Amino acid sequence: MAYDFDLFVIGAGSGGVRAARFAAGFGAKVAVAESRYLGGTCVNVGCVPKKLLVYGAHVADELEQAAGFGWTLEEGHFDWGTLIANKNREIERLNGIYRNLLLNSGVTLLQGHARLTGANEVEVEGQRYTAEHILIATGGWPQVPDIPGKELAITSNEAFYLKDLPRRVLVVGGGYIAVEFAGIFQGLGAATTLLYRGDLFLRGFDGSVRTHLKEELEKRGLDLQFNADIQRIDKLEDGSLKATLGDGRELVADCVFYATGRRPMLDNLGLENTGVELDARGYIRVDQQYQTTAPSILAIGDVIGRVQLTPVALAEGMAVARRLFKPEQYRPVDYQNIPTAVFSQPPIGTVGLTEEQALEAGHKVQVFESRFRAMKLTLTDIQEKTLMKLVVDAETDKVLGCHMVGPDAGEIIQGLGVALKAGATKQQFDETIGVHPTAAEEFVTMRTATR
Ligand code: FAD
Ligand code: NDP
Repeated sequence: MAYDFDLFVIGAGSGGVRAARFAAGFGAKVAVAESRYLGGTCVNVGCVPKKLLVYGAHVADELEQAAGFGWTLEEGHFDWGTLIANKNREIERLNGIYRNLLLNSGVTLLQGHARLTGANEVEVEGQRYTAEHILIATGGWPQVPDIPGKELAITSNEAFYLKDLPRRVLVVGGGYIAVEFAGIFQGLGAATTLLYRGDLFLRGFDGSVRTHLKEELEKRGLDLQFNADIQRIDKLEDGSLKATLGDGRELVADCVFYATGRRPMLDNLGLENTGVELDARGYIRVDQQYQTTAPSILAIGDVIGRVQLTPVALAEGMAVARRLFKPEQYRPVDYQNIPTAVFSQPPIGTVGLTEEQALEAGHKVQVFESRFRAMKLTLTDIQEKTLMKLVVDAETDKVLGCHMVGPDAGEIIQGLGVALKAGATKQQFDETIGVHPTAAEEFVTMRTATR
């Protein structure tokens, strides 16, 4: 049967655009449907605008440090409207780049919501298209617990477009987004409280990292409240919001920001017209090659709920394009040792196993840990400490994990990701000459095991 397209991609986000462009580059006839914004979550309401706001918040640190280096600055003034307008301009520029990338690769771009009407058929704006392969790359959406007053809360989607910087913010959650936005709001001048339901935030990260970041955030004056959960939100007469906690306490703020995880975006996708099944968590079930339970339909990225990071969605998109249209270049995605950063203030960089995971996996573990005041702070009164940690297999000497909390952690950990991918040993770390004077050199000069 002749199809309209070889590949029909639903969603022009990180994974979808990558798969579409490469498939078209390999000679396939490709269409992409996008209902909202080109570039998806990462470009519009994720990684990119988030990082721009993090940079904005970080300026406060630089200003605080300036006096130590002899600079006298006039009283600074921050304008949220300018930051958001500049951010929006940059996002529009990126939307245009994505459009050109797709069009220049020969991809047919369809604007509108796509709905599956069969295993090889998609409907967009009343028009039906057939395709040999369909790729679902529809991403995710913020999830807010169902409590009275939840409609008064915002999520990251709205935070990027707030008209004004709220004076007092309650951030709910203890994952990436909560910690990053707590740093943004606080850095830009809002009185910020982070509420997390468990004993310590960032579950799944290395224990030393979690404790260290908690201490550093508290030093900065962030109000951290653990074992705290909001039961209801009410609007007060003056327009502010009252959050009532499980223990009966009441907190008043101008904004309640929820970052309590994301669900797969499957709204009105028409999965019922196909044989696509979901897994126990509600994400699209796929096999090792991203094929769903309907043989002609594949899925990648956040919607499969494996690792919700842009570079992973990109790698999955590339793998699908190669497997379908350039099989001789196909390589499976390696989910081991994925480096990642949390752009908190200070940021976290991490790759490989945490100490807890290494022990659980049965490794005989040696830990090298260093806490120090970064050189840049020595002329200032700021007492922030940087943490660096190596988790090593005592029997094979292989470095199993590298963890850092401190300035530029994301930049530093990228290189260490290559070292771990190559299977580096602690001895090879030790034999690597440091770059002096940097903070990063600490990773190759930790000689004595802490435990
Ligand atoms: P998306 O990028 O979400 O793209 C899905 C696209 O599909 C969207 O454009 C959507 O509009 C479209 N769509 C959905 N349904 C339909 C339909 N039926 N028809 C047509 N179009 C449809 N990751 C990092 O690696 N680093 C970071 O710093 C980082 N920061 C983040 C910050 C925030 C606040 C958030 C929310 C996420 C962040 N992420 C980060 C995660 C990253 O954004 C996602 O992992 C990534 O965007 C997933 O890509 P995707 O292709 O699966 O989906
Ligand atoms: P996460 O899954 O990282 O964290 C969700 C947090 O919300 C957890 O602390 C969780 O607690 C808590 N939570 C979940 N449900 C509830 C509830 N009902 N009530 C109270 N608390 C709840 O999700 P995020 O929304 O922060 O981010 C989504 C994903 O996007 C991330 O996992 C990451 O993959 C990606 N991302 C990546 C970034 C980066 O690379 N820098 C930045 C931002 C996002 P508990 O731990 O107890 O379950």
